[in-house]
Amino acid sequence: MGKVIAIANQKGGVAKTTTCINLAASLVATRRHVLLIDLDPQGNATTGSGVDKLQLEHSIYDVLIGECNLLDAMQYSEHGGYQLLPANRDLTAAEVELLELPAREHRLREALAPVRDNYDYILIDCPPSLSMLTVNALTAADGVIIPMQCEYYALEGLSDLVASIQRISQALNPGLRIEGLLRTMYDPRSSLTNDVSEQLREHFGDRLYDTVIPRNIRLAEAPSHGMPALVYDKQSKGALAYLALAGELSRRQRSEARKARA
Ligand code: ADP
Ligand code: MG
Repeated sequence: MGKVIAIANQKGGVAKTTTCINLAASLVATRRHVLLIDLDPQGNATTGSGVDKLQLEHSIYDVLIGECNLLDAMQYSEHGGYQLLPANRDLTAAEVELLELPAREHRLREALAPVRDNYDYILIDCPPSLSMLTVNALTAADGVIIPMQCEYYALEGLSDLVASIQRISQALNPGLRIEGLLRTMYDPRSSLTNDVSEQLREHFGDRLYDTVIPRNIRLAEAPSHGMPALVYDKQSKGALAYLALAGELSRRQRSEARKARA
């Protein structure tokens, strides 16, 4: 069955969208079927996937409020090789409108149910907040990947996010777990990076990915061409790091499956 992973952190600029796009493309490169859901009104994952957010006939907004079928909003990212549920500013209204709707926390989960098995991975790009949209993502997800920069304040924000994940897993989605913490824009020369890494390892143990994503200009350039780094410059350090992350994800999943059978 397809694994649904929310890429979340209420902080902006920690590489949620970059991780979504490049992990999706890397999983496709290893022959996985992937659906990427843009759940941020900024629509950066949509643009970065090569889809014009100003020309959408239907978007994830219509799906969430029940105005259209999920399949009608789906688009194919040509460079990424994955399916995309796009978003744009319309989604801002959903924050308020969802509050009025029945099963408001479960709208995304219910919309995904019929297609879940068509994919190996469904990745959700969350907005930089712990809003009703993020609650929908966490209610639909099996796991959460938390991208973060190794800076001093990163740890502070993390406790709010972890508390939200715990709340949602208790009240709405008992299957939810932290899939992994991903260090992004990583600079091994900074001593702060090493300190923060050590603290993360202490707190989160093996849920901290071994793979780190280095700061790499190609990762920042690729979205303006509507493509993942893997297509824009496939030898770039950024592209290779996300390929390594896809490998680590698959290895972990295999080893968990083995443990579950044992
Ligand atoms: P978020 O979705 O969490 O707000 P983004 O993925 O949009 O974060 O990343 C924030 C900015 O940092 C973007 O301009 C992006 O291109 C850039 N960026 C992300 N990861 C890297 C990286 N590893 N190296 C260099 N720039 C990066
Ligand atoms: Mg983003």
